[in-house]
Amino acid sequence: GSVIGILGGGQLGRMLALAAARLGLVCHIYDPAPSPPAAQVAAACTTAAWNDAEALAAFAKAVDVVTYEFENVPAAALDAIEAVRPIRPNRKALATSQDRLTEKTFLASLGLATAPFAPISNDSEMTAAVAQIGVPAILKTRRLGYDGKGQARLTTPTDGAEAWASMAGAEAILEGYVEFSAEISVIGARGLDGAVACFDPGRNVHQDGILQRTTVPASVPATVVTDAVLLTAKILNSLDYVGVIGVELFVTPAGLVVNEFAPRVHNSGHWTQTGCTICQFEQHVRAVAGWPLGDGQRHSNVEMENLIGFDVCRVPALAAEGAALHLYGKAEARAGRKMGHVNRITGPA
Ligand code: ATP
Ligand code: MG
Ligand code: MG
Repeated sequence: GSVIGILGGGQLGRMLALAAARLGLVCHIYDPAPSPPAAQVAAACTTAAWNDAEALAAFAKAVDVVTYEFENVPAAALDAIEAVRPIRPNRKALATSQDRLTEKTFLASLGLATAPFAPISNDSEMTAAVAQIGVPAILKTRRLGYDGKGQARLTTPTDGAEAWASMAGAEAILEGYVEFSAEISVIGARGLDGAVACFDPGRNVHQDGILQRTTVPASVPATVVTDAVLLTAKILNSLDYVGVIGVELFVTPAGLVVNEFAPRVHNSGHWTQTGCTICQFEQHVRAVAGWPLGDGQRHSNVEMENLIGFDVCRVPALAAEGAALHLYGKAEARAGRKMGHVNRITGPA
């Protein structure tokens, strides 16, 4: 298709629209908020609620294919769209990643390692799960969490009651704490023809649950890189996936443990804009538009730094430094808000 509909108009939608424009494709954004970051660069933007079936159907009719830039699109919105146009990545990929319990159960069914986990919906399940999994552990809401929100850490078994209370009744999952030596992620892609291509894994550092920095190469053994790429391909193939995926991994002495995956372009893949001929955004656009995947080979070592909240005060200095600066056009800085990022080449690959 030549017109791509994007559900969600944040910075990921904005960078997708910019990449699409380079390929001569037009993007139409759908977002409940007026003037989201992507609207400034897209050809059209529909401002309507996720439960506005009429607006969703009209949006779908105006485009050739629909994709999304965040994984919490309500199922009812997708029902209204799916009747009219294809959704890529497909509903199963989205539904699997929307619920941490479904996600971990799916990953385990593929034979992939995850943190030990147990579903929690009441006090007695919480007590039993703490006894079974032990501490340290992390309690997470099954749905709608991002940037470390909706999580509570347990350091002693007695923390369980307070952690469960902090979920305010929302269904949760208790995860055993994984002792990792590094966090890495693979940005993978699968085309409509079933071809798979993965970018080189990056090493991620988080602060207060928010990604702060991604470095490539990840400086892990070659066997770990191979394992990471192969397991990403396994996930993509088993979901009959079309588009880009971000797979977050823990590196442990016993091998890779999958934390979670995002069925979309991913913050830890922003380095590809500077390190590769074809970036993750172009790769996603190619996949959902039914084009062949591009060459995601890495030509440079890169360090990507997120500009979060009042980090934007550093923009004049960063501009003077001459590094590749990406700003999302958000009017107001707020603590924890992703305002932009900067990519620095640190050498040839
Ligand atoms: P995102 O913004 O990536 O979607 P999220 O809110 O879904 O974040 P997670 O990725 O589950 O949250 O957790 C955030 C961070 O917390 C992880 O990147 C990791 O550093 C740490 N973490 C999460 N789960 C575990 C675990 N089981 N063991 C050890 N560390 C963990
Ligand atoms: Mg997440
Ligand atoms: Mg995560």
